[in-house]
Amino acid sequence: MKRLKFEELHLSDEMLRAVVEMGFEEPTHIQSETIPTLMEGKDIIGQAQTGTGKTAAYAIPILENIENGANYIQAVVMCPTRELVIQVSDEFQKLMKYKSNITVVPIYGGQEIGRQLKALKKNPHIIIGTPGRTIDHIKRGTLKLENVSFVVLDEADEMLDMGFKDDIELILAKTPKTRQTIMFSATMPEDIMRIMRRHQEHPKQIDVTQKKIDAPKIEQVYFELHEKTKPEALSRLLDLHNIKLALVFCNTRKKVDSLVEILKSRGYFAEGLHGDINQNQRERIMSNFRNGSTEILVATDVAARGIDVNDVEAVFNYDLPGDDEDYIHRIGRTGRAGKSGVAFTFIVGKEIYNMRRIERLNEIKIRRAMIPTLDDLDESRLEGIKNILSETIEKGHLSKFINYIEKLVDEDFVTMDIAAALLKITLDRKNESFDNSMNFHDYTFQETPKEGFKHRKGKSGSRRNDKFRSGGRSGDRSYSSKPEYGFDKKKRDKRKSKENKPWKRKKK
Ligand code: AMP
Repeated sequence: MKRLKFEELHLSDEMLRAVVEMGFEEPTHIQSETIPTLMEGKDIIGQAQTGTGKTAAYAIPILENIENGANYIQAVVMCPTRELVIQVSDEFQKLMKYKSNITVVPIYGGQEIGRQLKALKKNPHIIIGTPGRTIDHIKRGTLKLENVSFVVLDEADEMLDMGFKDDIELILAKTPKTRQTIMFSATMPEDIMRIMRRHQEHPKQIDVTQKKIDAPKIEQVYFELHEKTKPEALSRLLDLHNIKLALVFCNTRKKVDSLVEILKSRGYFAEGLHGDINQNQRERIMSNFRNGSTEILVATDVAARGIDVNDVEAVFNYDLPGDDEDYIHRIGRTGRAGKSGVAFTFIVGKEIYNMRRIERLNEIKIRRAMIPTLDDLDESRLEGIKNILSETIEKGHLSKFINYIEKLVDEDFVTMDIAAALLKITLDRKNESFDNSMNFHDYTFQETPKEGFKHRKGKSGSRRNDKFRSGGRSGDRSYSSKPEYGFDKKKRDKRKSKENKPWKRKKK
């Protein structure tokens, strides 16, 4: 399916302005399919997960259809968890920034009911809630849904898993039959299809899960980390692997600009490419990247289209792409013309599920690794320094320095100390731009508990309760030798235990 441009979606100027401000360059697949369909007044049943842009896919047409002069609830969005309610509300707030007098009220358990009652009395236009708390308000008579034009069931399979089936049926029954019903779910079990058959009319079916595409044969590694540690992680990986030409993908133009600034302040030759860059600038940037004077090109997917550079050593998914297909397009920029390449992917929190889906659909394996520590970087730099030392010794012309060292020895310095201190000074300088306090090991992804989860029947032990950990830190560019990609915690621990027990070291 052809992806449309936002300008082709007949959106209001206020909406287009908000979308540009949010840094969206073009609609995602799901948005291209959903927005026109909802604008035509049809129902939607869509298989899509977080990360595909599904929230904006329904929020944009809903916001475009709200009559702000009419003081009643016109849209209800149901989400399984309070976390998702807050996330969805934030997205609505951003998208309606330039629309006046539209009100959105989030309602979820755990939040003071008095505050919600006050907000509901003001006749908001849009309600975003968890089924449990929404039902509470319906029963209290504080929520009237008889004029609702849109009902959205977001992550429907999760809501069913949590035992909210009856609540959802009740909410649907309380809304007029003329409403548009939008359902998004990661999976499509028969339970959901049955409810939807009863409550939807000729819905358009949308499946944004992609067909398998051939993945290029390149090493693929992922790291779990916090959003705020991404710049440090990127710098450590660039330095550890001594990467001279890298393509870094971000999802928005804003992020591209801010990352370029960060990289420049850390001393890298970086430039950004996105939709706001004109053709002349683009040609200059591309030619700098081709001839290597720009080492790191930070780009959005749209801007990176058509980039054809053979020597890209590494592709970074600084943000996991919203579209599964984009992952393959992105990583295909490295490992070209018979050269080896590596793709590094940064994963934050729940994105791990999207990454697993990318793996499954493309039948690829992305290996988990740890962000290198500063010790890891030092180690790899020392290897590099060793090579430089032997070259320099071979070339000679060292008498001036030998004389100086002899002078120091006469002053009671020990040659071993002198050499060690020089190495330390060299490595410390290289580590100046790194943040030694940043501890990647501390990161654990854990979903916040679900509202009402324990008290309801239904499957327990959601697939989202797993914990994930990540690791490390590290150092320099020109001196580093190239170790294997990323760090394997087991290997590191083994190494550490050897360091602590020097007698166990292998004799050379
Ligand atoms: P969602 O799948 O709705 O959870 O969206 C995932 C992330 O993608 C959110 O941070 C959105 O703001 C962002 N997003 C949504 N649409 C676009 C787009 N067209 N371009 C770039 N980012 C987007």
